[in-house]
Amino acid sequence: MTDLLIRHGRVIDGTGTPAIDADIAITDGRITAIGDLRLTRATDTIDASGRMVTPGFIDIHTHSDLTLMLEGRAPSSVAQGITTQIAGNCGVSAAPTRDFEPYYGPLDPAMTRGLVCDWTGFDDYFQRLQQQGVGTNVATLVGHGNIRVAAMGYDDRAPTASEMDRMRALTQQAMQDGAVGLSTGLAYAPGPFAQLDELIELGKVIGEFGGIYTSHIRNQTEGIADAVGEVIAVGEGAGIAAHVSHMQPGSPMIGATADLLRTMDDLRRRGVDVSCDAIPYTVGSTTLKSLLPPWSLDGGDEALIARLHDPIMRDKIKADTMTHGAESGGSRKRNLVKDGDWEKIWLGSSGPANEHLTGKSFAEIGRLRQQDPHEAVLDILIEEEARPWMLAEDVSEEDFLNIARHEAGGIISDGFSLIPEGVLAEGKHHPRSYAAFPYFLRHFIREQQAMTWEQAIHKLTGHAATRFRIADRGLLREGLWADIVIFDAEQIGEQADFDQPYRFPRGIDHVFINGVAALRDGQLQDSRSGRILRHAA
Ligand SMILES: [Zn+2]
Repeated sequence: MTDLLIRHGRVIDGTGTPAIDADIAITDGRITAIGDLRLTRATDTIDASGRMVTPGFIDIHTHSDLTLMLEGRAPSSVAQGITTQIAGNCGVSAAPTRDFEPYYGPLDPAMTRGLVCDWTGFDDYFQRLQQQGVGTNVATLVGHGNIRVAAMGYDDRAPTASEMDRMRALTQQAMQDGAVGLSTGLAYAPGPFAQLDELIELGKVIGEFGGIYTSHIRNQTEGIADAVGEVIAVGEGAGIAAHVSHMQPGSPMIGATADLLRTMDDLRRRGVDVSCDAIPYTVGSTTLKSLLPPWSLDGGDEALIARLHDPIMRDKIKADTMTHGAESGGSRKRNLVKDGDWEKIWLGSSGPANEHLTGKSFAEIGRLRQQDPHEAVLDILIEEEARPWMLAEDVSEEDFLNIARHEAGGIISDGFSLIPEGVLAEGKHHPRSYAAFPYFLRHFIREQQAMTWEQAIHKLTGHAATRFRIADRGLLREGLWADIVIFDAEQIGEQADFDQPYRFPRGIDHVFINGVAALRDGQLQDSRSGRILRHAA
């Protein structure tokens, strides 16, 4: 007797090959048969007539490391069909911590207010996550920011020999505990303070475990080619797979993905193991302080705030942005500041003092506060202890599609697992946490027909699993884990937007994770059937 039978679905298996009409049988969490199963008897049956049946979506780039500790059910992820997520991106992960203090990097600490951090390494973190139960399967990279801060704080300098040893040891421990690789955030302190040799050294450590190196690169504007080159240099120098996260260029390099991908093609033909991904939105989101030159973050937030209080340093910070823009490091969004595009940058989250300004552009915030928008950014950073998040419109759909259609390109949310209540629903964060994949499927696939459904699903499933070496998921195949999404291709779409970012998507009927219903008939279930996917060397 089969546990579950999904009948009459239009099955897209995740390989990119054409859909077929078939039934799927599931027992003990795994797919046991695919085909004409009309004679199979099952405890539970789902009629998937008129629906697409696909592997669960694999989101290779999330920042759910800490939000999962507050809300293990991961409702915003499950509701959009995500069954596996890879956390620990952009140089920031849940572990290692320094003295039980998480490294937040570009994340918003206000978002996880009240969280008690009682773990140091991944082993403890995974155990705690497992104990409370987790809504999706979770794998994680180890963040270079965590490692550098734990070894040497926020200092803007090269590590000493003993600090480098410490960083190697922490990286090794993280990999032993099951991290899938190393991520860097070279736009976020202390990432910009690290040079190539340090990254190669740490790359060699993860190489011993077959880990992947992923990077939020040093520059996404004028210097993007060199910054991508640096990722490739780390990969080649350490002999590891290298991956450029959200490789979308900002002004004045809009459209540069065509050249970047051509270069990548040449390298890949010569055997260089490099890939990339992109977020399906033209609006990005990150910490407000990344509008500042990285040198101003030397020593951490307290040192930054002291500099913002000092009139001479404050002028120097402003002058750096106005003279160099993103060229001197930090977020690509610094070029919007340089160009005076204040209507394209808005406040995403803030503490109580400026809560009323969230969702407003800095052009408007400047008017309301009767000050220059650049001054408003610096003052709000002081008033909110450097924590706020911003959103900014600064990349193109053309660049997204160039990456999405490329054989080495993945598609990511860059979001968090959230729930639309309590602390995780405060502010106006990016709607991608609730909507990235349904938005991609509605906007680019159903409406623009930019790719076939089979190609699109392949990117969200089989392609992602292959790149991150998740051997037993990402496809609908006999013997693999039953991570499955059933949706209506005519209906699937986002309901969250920038005004109402915390709305669940529509058109998804069922989500199964390890054979257990996480979403049934459109209703979220508290099944917490996700697993921790520890990397096996
Ligand atoms: Zn990210």
